[in-house]
Amino acid sequence: MDISESVLEMYEDILKNISNKNNVETSLSSSIEEIFNPGVEQEEYKKNNNDNNEELNNNGNSYIYENSNMNQSNDKDHDVELHGYNKHHQTRINIFEMMNTSTSEISTWDLSDDTSAINLVAFNLDSYTMSNKLVEGKSYEFGYLSIRTVDNMYKKLSHEYQLLVNNATNVREISMSYNYEMKYNFTDLNEIETLPFNSIIDVQVTVLRDYGITAGNTNGNSWMRRELHVGQNGVNIKLTLWNEQAKVISTSVIQKSLKIKYVKIDYFNGLRTLVSMGNTRLTIASTSEKISYHLIHANPSILFQNTTTLRIFMKTIIHSLLLSIIQHKCTTFNINLTVLECASTSNLINQLVPFVNTLRKHCNRCNTSIPFVSIADIAYLLVQNKTNQWTLAIDTNVYSKNQQLRLFESVKYGKNNPLVLSTKFPFHSEIKYSYSNLLKKSLIIFMEHDIIPKIYLKDKNFVVDLYSISNPINTLS
Ligand SMILES: [Zn+2]
Repeated sequence: MDISESVLEMYEDILKNISNKNNVETSLSSSIEEIFNPGVEQEEYKKNNNDNNEELNNNGNSYIYENSNMNQSNDKDHDVELHGYNKHHQTRINIFEMMNTSTSEISTWDLSDDTSAINLVAFNLDSYTMSNKLVEGKSYEFGYLSIRTVDNMYKKLSHEYQLLVNNATNVREISMSYNYEMKYNFTDLNEIETLPFNSIIDVQVTVLRDYGITAGNTNGNSWMRRELHVGQNGVNIKLTLWNEQAKVISTSVIQKSLKIKYVKIDYFNGLRTLVSMGNTRLTIASTSEKISYHLIHANPSILFQNTTTLRIFMKTIIHSLLLSIIQHKCTTFNINLTVLECASTSNLINQLVPFVNTLRKHCNRCNTSIPFVSIADIAYLLVQNKTNQWTLAIDTNVYSKNQQLRLFESVKYGKNNPLVLSTKFPFHSEIKYSYSNLLKKSLIIFMEHDIIPKIYLKDKNFVVDLYSISNPINTLS
């Protein structure tokens, strides 16, 4: 095995989730933004179509989102409405959230790509079959979906449209380069008075009072409710969290800042209030919170002799990555350093700091020797710490002799920071793993008769030793 090849393999493993192998078919698909680019005739269309949105059938006011159907259509409105996107017949969407409503007749999912988010609705048998196919966090390509406008009353996202599953709809799982990241579009509390009821907004508020959780039962349906009084710059409003949302934060929330995504503007006793929905996202906002990602190479093709070798290897890799930025030249980046100036990683960081944002923004097409990795990607190796100083995103201190290992769900003494499975980068892109399986994967295990090649450090060179061959076969300076 060639060492440089194995390094590349490691990188491919690490970066598998952001490499896109399905580019070829992109031209067939449309982004959510493309679909919902409103046309001039939209008002007229809405007038004709928004009256029976939440019915348990999808035959009436929707149309098949497909080219040939459009050509055969005699309906003027539909023809006009589809102007601009009738070239596409498939839409490829990344699912970031799966929110099944309680009835078996309707299922709703929030779908997202890098342009926007939209609801997907399925009824009756479609609801059942789709629920078995779609898994939160995975990416899918949908073909032959229908689209329709959505009445404000039933909105769960701020979009004017929603997607519908119909008899012709097909779906297949794909791998996609896009990783969903929660983005907020905050509305100020003082703007709420001017917004229509049932608007879906994001807010960041401070909790002033917490009236606690009440539970009840209405017509055989049990419910749970948590009433909060929240404020922002002197403007106060009531916030009601329903059911699961009431329990999301188990600790006291008084005086804490909450970030809330997809909350609905409602009214009670003549006053505007905010109410949660099934897909509302609620988090305690904290600027000092630190998240560490632990990379676990669960099925290694190569192992390291010991942690010291691994640390030197990591430092070498980081140094060479930063060097690749320094050495690349393009229209927005062109600096020259002496060999001596390039020698230390800390000096490379100092030299790169003024350019970090430029590199991230403009160098996404500046290639490196690593497939799928651009100079802009590497620029994300540099991050700001709590005191706004630039540092490495990778903590090399963990590669030390006396480093304690973290087990799945273990918490550091006196802290509340369990090691949990990442939803963004789960093992083999699987979200569902058994507890014991996850625990095993987080263990460092002694392997008696392992047959995996090892990387050793010998005379300042990394040496790969194949299990059956005692002679080193390749070196890397
Ligand atoms: Zn560049």
